[in-house]
Amino acid sequence: METSRIEGSEVPFYVGNLDSVFEKHQKWQTLLPRVTPFYAVKCNNNLAVLRTLSALGTGFDCASKREIEMVMSIGVTPDKIIYAHATKPQTHIRYACAQGVDMMTFDNEEELLKITRGHPNAKLLLRIAVDDSKSQVKLSTKFGATLGTVGSLLKRAHELDLDVKGVSFHVGSLCTDSVAYRWAIEEAHHVFEQARLIGFHLDLLDIGGGFSGHGLEMVLNSKALDEFFPADSGVRVIAEPGRYFVDSAFTLALNVFARKKVWNMLMSADGNGLDTMIMYYVTSGLHGAFGDIKLYPDKKHLFCPRYQSVIWGPTCDGADRIMDVWMPELNIGDWILVDNFGAYTIPLSTDFNGFEKPTIYLVVTPQIWKMLNFKSSCASLEQGKAFLW
Ligand code: PLP
Repeated sequence: METSRIEGSEVPFYVGNLDSVFEKHQKWQTLLPRVTPFYAVKCNNNLAVLRTLSALGTGFDCASKREIEMVMSIGVTPDKIIYAHATKPQTHIRYACAQGVDMMTFDNEEELLKITRGHPNAKLLLRIAVDDSKSQVKLSTKFGATLGTVGSLLKRAHELDLDVKGVSFHVGSLCTDSVAYRWAIEEAHHVFEQARLIGFHLDLLDIGGGFSGHGLEMVLNSKALDEFFPADSGVRVIAEPGRYFVDSAFTLALNVFARKKVWNMLMSADGNGLDTMIMYYVTSGLHGAFGDIKLYPDKKHLFCPRYQSVIWGPTCDGADRIMDVWMPELNIGDWILVDNFGAYTIPLSTDFNGFEKPTIYLVVTPQIWKMLNFKSSCASLEQGKAFLW
């Protein structure tokens, strides 16, 4: 995080770098050539990001009818979409069916019954609960069939004449240890065996998301894939990365529009008297870009310590407190830049209290622009503007 001074507008804004998304895709192809990414739209649904990834040939992981609509509106075909939500509203299942989106996940019997009614020809992936202890955001309490229930679920799917094609898992977001993928891949292999004994021939493995924006090579041990699902096994491997593609591509700029000096109730470091604390009010807070602030604890340490400070969001909500930090003094009109801020920020923003959501400005070099072959789509980037340099 850095600060700088720009006169004029106070509206918060993002700068999104599409070259970075392109580079991430290249890196993915180099490191995991066997794994087709289905980008998780929930992470950042900016249309230019979706268009970029679509031009690069990725698939899309959609969590709802609206997300399916969104990617199809930019020309993505149904075979490039996985409806990767293990618990879906019945109307959304029917919508997917009507659009020809066949790939979807399940993790319980009630869901199988809904799918039988809404999309009997769906190609199903059984989502299993895996160890998420190596990740910052846990998903396995809410989603995934436990290994003890997998056998009966597969038998029920067989009785219902449903087409189970594979297994999916998610090790949790911000995974820090490749062993989590290894354990999960091994468990998925075990489920493939169980399914075979029940009469299914599975040929699709979905290794989910969880890859951080930095160091893909650290978290996914492709050796585990080669060991349990070698290239000649005939199993197609896909993934649902979100954060990996967009986190580092976006920087947020926040304007300091008010500040207040107060006496801190705590004693000063030398034990004598009270310290000054400075409270800053910035143009986007927990109801805006920081909706998922729990994921950004590292941002607290990026200023060199000086004054004990509190950064508040702009709304009247007393809980809209972004963070407590030690930092140099800022003035009204200063800007705070928050880098690596493209994941789980834009879709979570609201305009609560009438404060504008951050504007999105996109930048891309002419080389990448041409390579992506956007043609006239510059004018139709509805959520932002494209700049060339
Ligand atoms: N797939 C599913 C089903 C998810 O729930 C999520 C995130 O919650 C993702 C993919 C994307 O995860 P990440 O951004 O950690 O890669």
